[in-house]
Amino acid sequence: MNFVNPFARRGQWHKANLHTHTTTSDGLVTLSDRIKQYAKADYSVLAITDHHKTNPVQGLSTKELLIISGIEYHPRCPHHPGVHHLVGLNVPEGFGFPEEYPADANACIQAVRKAGGESILAHPFWCGHRYDMFSYLKGYIAMEVFNSTCDYIGRAESNEDWSHLLDAGRYVPAVAVDDAHRNDDALTGWTMLRMGRLNAESVLDALRTGCFYSSTGPEIRDFAVRRGHLEIECSDAAAIYLMAQNSGGSRGLPTRGKSIRSYRCQVAKHWEYVRAVVVDKQGRKAWTNPIILK
Ligand SMILES: [Zn+2]
Ligand SMILES: [Zn+2]
Repeated sequence: MNFVNPFARRGQWHKANLHTHTTTSDGLVTLSDRIKQYAKADYSVLAITDHHKTNPVQGLSTKELLIISGIEYHPRCPHHPGVHHLVGLNVPEGFGFPEEYPADANACIQAVRKAGGESILAHPFWCGHRYDMFSYLKGYIAMEVFNSTCDYIGRAESNEDWSHLLDAGRYVPAVAVDDAHRNDDALTGWTMLRMGRLNAESVLDALRTGCFYSSTGPEIRDFAVRRGHLEIECSDAAAIYLMAQNSGGSRGLPTRGKSIRSYRCQVAKHWEYVRAVVVDKQGRKAWTNPIILK
């Protein structure tokens, strides 16, 4: 199995926030103000994902901004007192679970699928869930590598958890999201989907096949293996990390005081997969999905 390389695929880039709260649950901003905010910032996709409840979003999409009906749900974790946070996308209005904290997370993921949606594993680091506590989960199509709202306690990134998952041969792509509740946690982490058409099925398809990259600032323009070499191009960066499994990988740095915009290195024979993390001078990051090499 390999992902679809978004940099080699025809289509357009669509900026998406896949995790958003409103006053329907614990968000401080109304549904209509939240939609206006993301429309003004030129997003193409906004998923409304309040805790336990859907929102009446039918008829709110425009030609420029697709609104996706979603939910954040919280099944119990058998290995930790804190519940899981999973985001269900493209669920019908009124979708939900009879209990606030259902016992069987995998059954919930399947129920979301049966209803026509898919699930994303949200902010495991913020939950305190190590890889061994969430590795039993199955059937979710992506995890969050970055979550803006979790930055309030410095737990925005789940980069290590993602590596553990990939190192175990579980090839799941990863998104960056806002999980916006207030105003200072909006428009900070986004997912760039490569799609031919702007509709919910194309969004789910891009997510399932890893046809996207995630960012809090830097732009990635190319990422591919050609003639045994990994090549990446991006906006001005302070460092480009190539991460393979365990201790495998490489790092590109600029010459003193300058920026780096591309990096090329030989793919080592023992690498099973490789992904890139681009860091700019302000410390903002962008993450590619892995290219599977074996
Ligand atoms: Zn959450
Ligand atoms: Zn949330």
